[in-house]
Order: sequence, then structure tokens, then C-alpha cells
Amino acid sequence: MSIPKVVLKPKRAQPFFGRHPWVFAGAVERVEGAPADGDEVELVSTAGNFVARGLYNARSKIVVRLYSWNEGVALDRAFFHNRLSRALAFRRDALKLHAPDAGYRVCFSEADFLSGLIVDRYGDWLAVQLSSLGLANRREMLVEILRELLEPKGVYLRPEKGIGKLEGVELRDQLLWGEPPPADLTIRENGMTFLVNLTEGQKTGYYLDQRDNRAAVGRLCAGKRVLDAFCYSGGFGLYAARGGAAEVLSLDSSEPALELGRRNAAANGFATITYQMGDVFRTLADLATAGRTFDVVVLDPPKFARDRASLPEAMKGYRRLHQLALRLLDRDGVLVSCCCTGLIAMTDLEELIAQVAVEARRDVQLLARRGAAPDHPVAATCRETGYLKCVLSRAL
Ligand code: SAH
Repeated sequence: MSIPKVVLKPKRAQPFFGRHPWVFAGAVERVEGAPADGDEVELVSTAGNFVARGLYNARSKIVVRLYSWNEGVALDRAFFHNRLSRALAFRRDALKLHAPDAGYRVCFSEADFLSGLIVDRYGDWLAVQLSSLGLANRREMLVEILRELLEPKGVYLRPEKGIGKLEGVELRDQLLWGEPPPADLTIRENGMTFLVNLTEGQKTGYYLDQRDNRAAVGRLCAGKRVLDAFCYSGGFGLYAARGGAAEVLSLDSSEPALELGRRNAAANGFATITYQMGDVFRTLADLATAGRTFDVVVLDPPKFARDRASLPEAMKGYRRLHQLALRLLDRDGVLVSCCCTGLIAMTDLEELIAQVAVEARRDVQLLARRGAAPDHPVAATCRETGYLKCVLSRAL
């Protein structure tokens, strides 16, 4: 059976032979065979050579998302079953993340060669994020496959904000299958208990990507005074408390997030954490003015820029945070700089730390350059998937 073809403009095929999965409209010469949005298409070069197989969407800036570079491989149920079961097997068998009450990312979109599909597992519930029309149209099939592979009690959809406009598909938060998650859904992470608000919490309810960074920071906190800025449900601060911190101050602007944090502290039996609501920029400035100091400062702000136009403003924000953090950091203190803005590279973050160190007239050592936990891998051919940076440094 011949399937519709998307023909590339001359000299535009190289990125796709390079296995990058996003074909933007500007690279396309013409479409043959009138595919409907969401249909399978073959991407071919100007000379008519097969490049890859993908899903079409004329309504998106990404006209084709590519899934297979093997000619003749159909993007059918068996294909998605295979991809998802291999993604799961990696988390279960290699990373050993699977346990009845574990939280981990089962599938990370392009990083698992399934552009547009994120699946997070929280114990018996799955949170699914769809960000492409092609996979949104296939959601029933995908849920069926996930039920086969993971036997969840419920599957909940948390569409990415803005996807309606970007992809031309209307999705809302909803239960896709099974029972709604309980209000007190909890997971165990490195021996600690975390509440997950799957239906209303940020992201899909919890920040799984910081799991290993939280553990790494916790190990440095024995006897220390720790400031956890942008704490959400308390992640870094809870690990600090377990690591033996003398005191922890956790800051966030969201009251529901702090409420989760307080409940997490109680569930784990930690009494050394203070949760404070407020804007981090203002609160850090106030703490510095008051002459407060800390031995460990964690900065884990949300994404500051979604496009290149907002990068200068974003960099200003990161710079301001680092300036304030260095003022608060006592001698030989540890700074934890997290940055989930994909458009800012590790080298940019390191350069920023260097510049702020110079301004503050302090020697700063980089102790570790970290990324997201390995259930959030980076596709070698789509390095946009490597969004999270976490630099541990020490200021003399
Ligand atoms: N460190 C957390 C994840 C942080 S996510 C963890 O390990 O789980 C970023 C957090 O920053 C969110 O909880 C959001 O509510 C908060 N936030 C965003 N802007 C803020 C601001 N200006 N001041 C304080 N908190 C802010």
C-alpha cells in the first residue's frame, strides 16, 4: 500500500537523515497523496529517496514528527507496543526503578523516540502528557498498550498547556481510563514518602527528573543550614533533612505546593524544615538584608524562557538569583544551580556562575555537572531533550 509522501526541499534532508524527529514546514517542498492530520506519511528527499516514516499534521509548525528510519515499518499498534515496552524494560530492568509504589518516567517523548508522548508512573496510576495531534488521536490505543504493560488502576491525562493552539487538538485534564487517583496518592523515592497531586499538581504532579540531584545534595547537608528555594513539594529540603541538616528553610510562591511540602515533612517525620511562602527574588533579598547566611543554597526555578526572544530576560533572572544566593552563602558554602530552560546550555550556566563569582570577589569551584535522572534520557540525535542542568559548586 502506498502511503502519502512529504517531499523535502533540495538540500534540506540532512537533519532528517541525521534522525532529528521534527520536520518544520519550511523544509517541505510538497505533499503528495492528501494525508489527513494525524495520518502516517513517508518523508522523502527531493530525489525521492526514503528518509523516514512519521505522522503528519498540517496544523502544527512541526508538519511531520518522525518515528522510524526503517523503510516499510508501519507506525501501527505493534510499533508503539514495541517502543513502549522497550522504554519500560529499560526503567524496570536496567535502572531498577520499578516497585509497586515507585514514581518514575516510563516514556519521555523524543528521548524515547516517541515524539509527543510522556508517561509518568506514580504507583498504580499513570499520568500521560500528549503534545502531538498524531499521538493524541491514538490515545485509546496507547492507553490500551499501557494497560497491558503496566496494569495500572487508572490513567490520567495531563495535556501540556498550549498544545491546543500549537497542534490544533483540544485536550483537557481527564481520567482516560480506570479509577481516579486517591487524594493522598504517595510514592516512595529513595526510601522517602512523597505525596503526588496527579490531577492538580504542577507538571504531572511531581518533579521526577530531580530525583538523583536531590539525593546528591542531601548527602552534602549533614549539620548544615540549608535554603531550598523554589521547593515545590519540598524535594531538596526533605533530602537535606534526611541527610542531617541542622535547619532547612524551604521557599515557594505556591501555597498548595507548600501544603504538600508540610505533609511530606510530617509523613517522613522531619521537624527541622520551615516552609515559607513568598517570591524567591524578594525573600532572598530580604534574607540577605537581614544578614542571614546558609551553608547550602538550592536554586530550582521554573523554566524562564520558552523561545529565543525571552532568553535575555531569562538570563537576567538567573543572574539575579545567583547574585543573591552568593550573598547568602557562607564561606565554603555549596550552591546548587538548577536550570530547566532548554535554550540555556550547561556552558552558559557555568559562565554565569563564573561571572557572578567574579563580581562577588569569591573563588568558586564546580563540584559536579549533572543532568536529569536517567529515566529522562537524552536522545543523541535530538539534544533538545537534554533540558535539565544541575551544577553543584562551592564558594570559598
Ligand atoms: N525543587 C522542586 C521543584 C521546583 S519547580 C522539587 O525538587 O520538586 C519550581 C517551583 O518554583 C514551583 O513550585 C513554583 O511554584 C515555584 N515558583 C515559581 N516562581 C516562583 C517565584 N518567583 N518565587 C517562589 N517560587 C516560585
